[in-house]
Amino acid sequence: HSGIPENLLEKAKRAKALIYDIRTKDTSTRQRLPVVPQGIEKYAFIQALEELAQQLGKANVEINDKLLSVASAVVNPSSTEEVQKIVLWANKYSIPIFPISMGRNLGYGGAAPRVRGSVVIDLDKRMNKILDINPDDYTCLLEPGVSFYALYEAIQAKGFDHMWIDVPDLGGGSVVGNTLDRGVGYTPYGDHWACHSGLEVVLPTGEVIRTGMGALPGNNTWQTFPYGFGPYSDGIFTQSNYGIVTKMGMTLMPNPGAYESYLYTFQKEEDLEALIEITRPLRIGNILENVAQLRHGIQTIAVKGLPRTKYFTGSGAIPESVLDIIDAEFKKIPSARKIDPSTLPKDDYFFSRDRIAAGVPDLVELLWVNWVPNGAHVAFSPVSPIRGTDAMKLYSLGKRRHDEFGIDFLPAFIVGLREMHLIVEIVYDKNDPVKRKAANDCLREMIDDAAKLGYGEYRTHLVLMDQVAGTYNWNDNALMKFNEKLKDALDPKGILAPGKSGIWPSRYRGRGWEM
Ligand code: ADP
Repeated sequence: HSGIPENLLEKAKRAKALIYDIRTKDTSTRQRLPVVPQGIEKYAFIQALEELAQQLGKANVEINDKLLSVASAVVNPSSTEEVQKIVLWANKYSIPIFPISMGRNLGYGGAAPRVRGSVVIDLDKRMNKILDINPDDYTCLLEPGVSFYALYEAIQAKGFDHMWIDVPDLGGGSVVGNTLDRGVGYTPYGDHWACHSGLEVVLPTGEVIRTGMGALPGNNTWQTFPYGFGPYSDGIFTQSNYGIVTKMGMTLMPNPGAYESYLYTFQKEEDLEALIEITRPLRIGNILENVAQLRHGIQTIAVKGLPRTKYFTGSGAIPESVLDIIDAEFKKIPSARKIDPSTLPKDDYFFSRDRIAAGVPDLVELLWVNWVPNGAHVAFSPVSPIRGTDAMKLYSLGKRRHDEFGIDFLPAFIVGLREMHLIVEIVYDKNDPVKRKAANDCLREMIDDAAKLGYGEYRTHLVLMDQVAGTYNWNDNALMKFNEKLKDALDPKGILAPGKSGIWPSRYRGRGWEM
């Protein structure tokens, strides 16, 4: 890109030339046309975009003519008011829009919309302000484009050593985006959604609301008391298509003063059952204060075993008694070996986990895409209680299907407080159609296998959302019927992220969009 915004009509002309070219010369590449949303004629769509560009500035509306792209255009609003304008525009022309914060939802769809031709609202470019960091209340107020890195650096720059943030495995994404997708991190504040307080939301019909205490003009409690008065509405804006979040409050953790990460290795796959049984009381009893990770040895080239973290609240050394309990518990497994971090090479993955455990953003985990050429990854993420039998059932289910499809099995159990997520990352060559299909087929089988055993995913890739939503079907799909009722009430034109989490607006429903 030259950096000079191109005239939209120029682009449109180019697109038209391309269409002409393809129609006359090469019909086999017809699917490569710049996509426009269904139900609107190409030229009318481009005129509608031109109208939007007049409101937002030409530089902030870009037709996406990249080959094979799902999005038709990308718009960059600078304020809540501009988000409202986009939403009203989308209603006027019945154009599907898809909001992203930073679009780094890697493994779950990235920046891609579910419906071809959607206009992506990219909140990262111009709505990336940290609106407030409160060092007394330990809270902050963020726009969607603030990354974990940016928040971390801002807190450091202000010299607020007494506060920590919590980061997910990959720190490059947005705090708001990750929290709305109910992503997790590894400090005691790892349940990001549970740690948020207050939202500002543009509804699909263009009204703006503030949730919790934010609804009371002049309040000073928006970021300290999440509930306010009346029904607690925040939850419906997570993993949903009911609104565009333009501000979010987040609580920050007090710096514990000291912390220590542990690495234990266990030799046998069969040790998993006992290991999970040992971990449960340590987590529920808060002896292990952090989310624990049990990684399979081959999960990444850099990972050699079990990173494990322990926090100590207060200053000074961690009491020996706590270390002894943890050590004694894990040593009940005969093959257990505690690794002294000073014996590890400096670039060992342990140190990446150690940083993440202390709320320092990191990107090393992404290196696993180097496992295969042109590596891409997609996750299978079922939830279970912290029980050995459940771990073994999910483990053998995953292993069997991976063997069947010839895929390396890279599981990790992420142990929360009373539940654990199994995260299986399938790393595949995205340029190889056979490998792509194997990854997709393997995932679809695992989702069904897991559902038959009573397990469901906590989050999934765009492509699998209908299938996963379909497994949450108790009482004749009562929950989805409720979700659809909400969708139709809040978004009568069905413009906002159609199909997200399997929720289709009425004008799409039952017309072949579900996969
Ligand atoms: P990140 O960059 O942190 O990984 P994304 O921007 O990819 O997060 O967001 C993850 C998903 O959450 C998106 O695909 C989108 O569906 C939803 N989302 C993100 N930001 C918003 C927002 N501000 N309002 C509504 N939904 C959002």
